[in-house]
Amino acid sequence: MSLDQVQADYSSDALEAYFGTSLSVADPDVAALVVSERTRQKQHIELIASENVVSRAVLEAQGSVFSNKTVEGYPGARYHGGAEIADTLETLGTRRACELFNAAEANLQPHSGSQANLAVFSALLDPFDSVLALDLKCGGHLSHGAKANISGKLFTIHAYGLRPDTGFIDLDQVAEAARIHRPKLIVAGGSSYPRALDLKAFRQIADDVGAYLLVDMAHFAGLVAGGVLDNPVDYADVVTTTTYKSLRGARGGMILWNRDDLTRRLRAAVFPGVQGSPLLNMMAAKAVGLGEALQPSFRRYAEQVQLNARALAGQLLADGLSVVTHGTDTPLMLVDLTDLDFDGQTASDKLAAIGITCNKNLIPNDPRSPAKTSGLRFGVSAMTSRGMVEKEARRIGTWIADCLLGRITSHQMIHRDVLALARRFEFY
Ligand SMILES: *Cc1c(COP(=O)(O)O)cnc(C)c1O
Repeated sequence: MSLDQVQADYSSDALEAYFGTSLSVADPDVAALVVSERTRQKQHIELIASENVVSRAVLEAQGSVFSNKTVEGYPGARYHGGAEIADTLETLGTRRACELFNAAEANLQPHSGSQANLAVFSALLDPFDSVLALDLKCGGHLSHGAKANISGKLFTIHAYGLRPDTGFIDLDQVAEAARIHRPKLIVAGGSSYPRALDLKAFRQIADDVGAYLLVDMAHFAGLVAGGVLDNPVDYADVVTTTTYKSLRGARGGMILWNRDDLTRRLRAAVFPGVQGSPLLNMMAAKAVGLGEALQPSFRRYAEQVQLNARALAGQLLADGLSVVTHGTDTPLMLVDLTDLDFDGQTASDKLAAIGITCNKNLIPNDPRSPAKTSGLRFGVSAMTSRGMVEKEARRIGTWIADCLLGRITSHQMIHRDVLALARRFEFY
């Protein structure tokens, strides 16, 4: 490279361009994708249970200069300089998490819910130790011991399932499996279990066999924060969650606990155990989201999420679809398609064609593969954030049922109605 070239690259014009050019000018390809994605989100009814719509403030924090800062360790004990402000940020976010969930300790560093779970597993267990968790086929999460996940490779996993008659967790089976396998850790919570957990029963079973109890509240954390569901922190040794589902904050994970004697192990398990430096821009956005969840208006949101979930599930049932457990206590529900002659993939394609986004999902003891499935999972966190209430939930329920049960003459007409509804609930 010639000296002229170096001087050109480091000229004040070049630097000004580097620091001053907006995305749309600097990278029109990516900028166009951002615009397309925003339009897609606005023009669809979003029913993917693990999604939500964050506030402008959360988005802004994610895009802030905290993106530039690297730290390792914890506030007051970092490996890098210039961390004073980062320390204040992490302390603020942690304090908010503790206040929101009435916990003595919180760790906001996990990059995701799966990372949070891996950290807890590695803090509490040695390799080959035994774990009892909800079967993946019954709504458990990959990070709770699936064979393909690191948790399933490092530890000895035993599964409990659901009562075939009700679809609720079979607590007798949990207790019996606990007596037989003597797990060191029992995990409650899952990715498609629609009902409130019997926290007292799980605590009792864990105590009976001397196991730790981990509750993963990823999907329903927002309802706990809003006082709608019982707080797992009052029962479990450790609680993990994502921050971006019903909690409506930045993408990422979080760990909460009360027991002093676990603090050192849990912190060390996150860093340096399974992660390096935290994503401080996401830490800032997590702090903003937790601040929002502490506002009285969030309680109202959480209540509406549960009302909308029940209204949607009720409408799907009334219109002739089969809903696992006949309802829900959480933001999510599971529709059983076994009586229809197509699978979950086809069903979600049909709904996509009328502007409704959801995901295929295994139903309890599904005869089909995870790539096909016999179910659909719906969640109402995102539509509720846009301002929709029961009336809209019921309308959406009827569209879904009509579409899946072949009661539509014109897909175009329904798609037009879906679009019109989406347009009435603008965001950003
Ligand atoms: C979504 C979810 C997670 C973690 O998700 P990430 O994709 O890793 O953020 C963990 N546990 C449960 C029960 C979940 O539903």
